[in-house]
Amino acid sequence: MQCPYCESTEIRKNGKRRGKQNHICNNCERQFIDVYDPPKGYSEKLKQECLKMYLNGMGFRGIERVKGVHHTTIISWVKQIGEK
Ligand SMILES: [Zn+2]
Repeated sequence: MQCPYCESTEIRKNGKRRGKQNHICNNCERQFIDVYDPPKGYSEKLKQECLKMYLNGMGFRGIERVKGVHHTTIISWVKQIGEK
C-alpha cells in the first residue's frame, strides 16, 4: 500500500470515511481512501498505438499478433472511441 500522490509507503490510518478506511500520507500529508487502484491493464500509449493501427486498416487479429493485445481488448477500445 502506498500513497497515490507521491508513492510513499509512509502512510498511517486516519479513521473511516463512509465505512471505508481513510489513510493519510506522512510524506505529503494528503489523504486518500483505502486501496488506490492503479490503471489496470494496458498503458495508454499501447492503446493509442493499437488504435492507430486499426485506423490504418489493420485487422484486430493482425494487431493482436504484432502488439500482443487480445483482439477483444482492441475491439472494446475501438468501441470506446466510437462513443466519443
Ligand atoms: Zn504522499
